[in-house]
Amino acid sequence: MTRSRVDWGDVLSMTPAELAQLLHDEGQPRFRARQLFEWLWRQRAESYDAVRVWPKTLQQVMAQRYPLRRLTPVETQAAEDGTTKLLLAMQDSQRVETVLLPHRYGYSVCVSSQVGCAMGCKFCASGLKGRVRQLTAGEMADQVAFANRILAPQGTRVSRVDVMGIGEPLDNFAALMRFLELVHDPAGLNISYRHITVSTSGLVPRMKQLADSGLPVTLAVSLHAPNDRLRLQLMPINRAYPLTQLIPMCRYYVEKTGRRLTFEYLLLKGVNDDEATAHELGRLIRGFPNHVNLIPWNPVEEHPFKPSPFAHVRRFQGIVQEYGISCTIRRELGQEIDAACGQLRLGEEVPVSP
Ligand code: SF4
Repeated sequence: MTRSRVDWGDVLSMTPAELAQLLHDEGQPRFRARQLFEWLWRQRAESYDAVRVWPKTLQQVMAQRYPLRRLTPVETQAAEDGTTKLLLAMQDSQRVETVLLPHRYGYSVCVSSQVGCAMGCKFCASGLKGRVRQLTAGEMADQVAFANRILAPQGTRVSRVDVMGIGEPLDNFAALMRFLELVHDPAGLNISYRHITVSTSGLVPRMKQLADSGLPVTLAVSLHAPNDRLRLQLMPINRAYPLTQLIPMCRYYVEKTGRRLTFEYLLLKGVNDDEATAHELGRLIRGFPNHVNLIPWNPVEEHPFKPSPFAHVRRFQGIVQEYGISCTIRRELGQEIDAACGQLRLGEEVPVSP
C-alpha cells in the first residue's frame, strides 16, 4: 500500500505497528501500543493523562517527547435537520471544516483533506484561496473521532465516512492511504472500507493508484459536464485529464475494485441542465455500473451561477434514467448553515503560513 513515511513526532498519524515501534524504542512492551491506539481512537484521549491504564511516568515521558496534536473546536453550527457543521483548529491555527450528517441508517461524516484546494473549480468556494496546506492522516482521522465524540451522548457513532469536504483527496494521496488504514482499523474507528467514499475531481493517475491498491472504497467522481468544452469551463483539471482519459479510468476503477462508482453532477441553471446535455451524459457513461448523483446548486455569494428549477432537475433525472443509469437527486441537508463547502471556513480569517 502507498502511504507516506510517518513523521515520528506525529503520533496521531501512526498505525498500530508504528506505535509499537515507537514504544519499543521507549523500552515499552508491545501491548502498550495497542492500548494507546484504542485510547486515541475509541476514547479520543485528549492527552496521555487520559490513558488511565498507563503508569504516570510513561504518560509524562510521552507528553514531553510526542505531544498529541488533537483538533480543537472553533465553531459549531447545527441545522434543524440534525446536520452539524464543525470548524476545527489544528496546531498551527489553520482551520478545517467537517460536517456530520444524519441519515435513516445512522450518521455519516464528511471529512476535509486539505486546507484550501488547488483545483480551482469555478463553482467552489473552497478553492478561492488556493491550497494552503495538506492535512496529515491524523488530522483527517481526528475529524471522524471528533464527530464520534459529539454523537457519544446519543450512544451512537459514525458509520460512514465521505472524504468529500474541502480539498482534493487524491492530491494528498499518501496521507489519504494512511488515513484509510487508520479509520478502518477495528481496534480504533472501525469503519469498513465499503462504508468509505473518496471523491475526486478527476486526477486520473491517482485514480489508477487507488484502484490498484485493492481497497474496496467507493469512488465519487465530480463530473458536472458530459463534454470537454463545458467541463473545461467549470473544472480546470479537465485540461490535464480530459474525458477521453477520465471515463476509461472510471471503467477501470469499477472493473478492478468491483465497486460501483458515483458521478457527482451539479446542476447549474442554463449551463449544464438542458435536455440535450442530459442525453449526452447518458450516452457518455452508460454500459458500466455507476450511479449519478444530481446536486441542486446551492448559491455561493462569490459565484454567478443560479440553481436549476426543480422541474428541470426532475426532467434531467428522467432522461439519464432512460439510459439504464441509476440517478438520484441529492437531499439538501443543512441549508441554513452555509451548506456549500468552504463557506464556513471562508467566513473566518485564517492565517496563511509563509
Ligand atoms: S470542488 Fe473539490 S476539487 Fe474542486 S476546488 Fe472545490 S474542493 Fe477542490
